[in-house]
Amino acid sequence: RGLESVERPTWAPGDIDLGRPSIARVYDYWLGGAHNFAVDRAVADKVLADVPLLKNVILNHRAFLRRAVRHLLARGVRQFLDLGSGIPTVGNVHEIAQAVDPSARVVYVDVDPVAVAHSRAILTGNPLVSVLQADVRDVERVMRSPEVSRRLDLDRPVGVLMVALLHFMADEDDPRGVVAAYRDAVPPGSFLALSHAGYEEGEWDPVWDEAKRTYNRGVSEITYRSKQEVEALFEGFDLVPPGVERLPLWRPESPDDVNGGADNFIGFGAVGRKP
Ligand code: SAM
Repeated sequence: RGLESVERPTWAPGDIDLGRPSIARVYDYWLGGAHNFAVDRAVADKVLADVPLLKNVILNHRAFLRRAVRHLLARGVRQFLDLGSGIPTVGNVHEIAQAVDPSARVVYVDVDPVAVAHSRAILTGNPLVSVLQADVRDVERVMRSPEVSRRLDLDRPVGVLMVALLHFMADEDDPRGVVAAYRDAVPPGSFLALSHAGYEEGEWDPVWDEAKRTYNRGVSEITYRSKQEVEALFEGFDLVPPGVERLPLWRPESPDDVNGGADNFIGFGAVGRKP
């Protein structure tokens, strides 16, 4: 109660529990967003204290998102399907895309009710952006949703984004099959951009096991994948140079993009085009 009266701002939907942390809001806090509460900040600070390198990792996923969306815009893409979108608050897809072309359209999809409620509150009044609450593994439901049919023209190229998403899918969830189903659902000329936690064979570092343990405990189960496994996700796509690359080295736009250190970086990014 006390927490509510102090902290519940107007954008927070009434059915959100302010007493329990949410991964979407933890992420928002790490990214410098304002859509988080004391309970989220406490978890977020604890995880970062245990594994300080995570901050740089997260910022790199975000920077990759920016560069990948801009790359797709430069190649003519004007509509985006952002899968596992989190809270679209700081530097998100619609901001990047609509800065280049105000008519750009975005459908955000996330399974987390907290992320979805926050997203709807933030995006009210932006007529070219929709938010869908769905499990991205249910590809048919996503692609047949009113949000997708209203917002996206499936006769024109779509930019499908899976940024920092698939490492939350275990092998049993068949991430390759999920990616392939989205590939088959979008027209030729569409793109897939994804980032994924992982490291090259033979480059394992004990700190990554520690990061994984901390992440699993405090936030969400994570599955690292090798460069080859990430490449395999792009079956049926032509990889855009430089292919699957450590995140800081995927088409950096400035020295800042590489500053956090690219050696032994624990994560890959890539963009592919459906021919
Ligand atoms: N893509 C955003 C970004 O890069 O800032 C958010 C990344 S966040 C680490 C991962 C998001 O994926 C979370 O918001 C989580 O709720 C969502 N997610 C995980 N598994 C999902 C699934 N099966 N279906 C839909 N969303 C999922």
